[in-house]
Amino acid sequence: MSHIYDILAERHIGSVDLGFARYKLFTADSLPDDEWAHTDTDLHEIVLHAHLDDGRAREFLMHELTHCVLELAGYTSEDPDKIYEDTNEDMTIKLSRGFLLLVQLNPDLMMALAKKN
Ligand SMILES: [Zn+2]
Repeated sequence: MSHIYDILAERHIGSVDLGFARYKLFTADSLPDDEWAHTDTDLHEIVLHAHLDDGRAREFLMHELTHCVLELAGYTSEDPDKIYEDTNEDMTIKLSRGFLLLVQLNPDLMMALAKKN
């Protein structure tokens, strides 16, 4: 079983196309605030901790991609006042559109995530 980082490197996948922007995708030996992964919607980048094992790296990558999907769906701020209180159906409609766009724009990345080797 290959580590997702090795698969991404083999396939030269170093970014995520979100349509309106291409986010740089990379690893780092340390992240601010002891985070394991981070998506910066201002700098347009996704950084993953370089020392995550394969399972956790895949989980964190999908977590960060979900942040991207929500960004695509219009959730551009942290919403501390909980203005957006959507129902399951509301969120599903938005997330499914965001995921479909993400998958269509990044087939190589999605294949790398889906296949373990
Ligand atoms: Zn998060």
